[in-house]
Formats: sequence, structure tokens, C-alpha cells
Amino acid sequence: MPTYRFSCTVCGPFDLIRPMRESGAPAGCPSCAREARRVLTAPALRSMPSALRGALDAQHRSADTPGVVTSPPPRTGRAQRRVTDPRQLRLPRP
Ligand SMILES: [Zn+2]
Repeated sequence: MPTYRFSCTVCGPFDLIRPMRESGAPAGCPSCAREARRVLTAPALRSMPSALRGALDAQHRSADTPGVVTSPPPRTGRAQRRVTDPRQLRLPRP
């Protein structure tokens, strides 16, 4: 079930897990039991696999401050290209 954010006028925002068919219905505040309205937010990413979440976090971190490296990553050996046309050997290399 997805997580929805609600906002109580007295206590502030809180998250609530509920079925999608009840997403727009008002919810009771867990602190004061007043009626709270749903707040539209970005999708909750809590149920993502941890590897995917880590990759997304790293992507967001590197958007503003990319990691600085001093050398290229080590070659693994399996990433070598096979040259099938000898004209490819004359192409400029990065
Ligand atoms: Zn409240």
C-alpha cells in the first residue's frame, strides 16, 4: 500500500499508509484526532529495493557535487573492445 502525507492544521504533517481507493479521503490526526487533509508530495520511495534506492541517492548526490577521482577505474579485462575493422585503429582515442 502506498504512503500518503496528510497535514493537521494543529499538529502538522504526518504520513499514513492506506489503500489507494482511500487516498483522497480525509484522515484523522494521530495526535489530536482532528480531520487532516491530504498533501500532494513526491512518491514515497520506501518500498524500493535497497540497491536501487542507493543508486538513486548517489545520482542525486552527484548532481550538485560530483565525486572527484584522481585516476580512471581499473580495467577488468572483459570490457576490451574487439577491433574487427582495421580502420577503427586509426580513430582518435579519448
Ligand atoms: Zn492534530
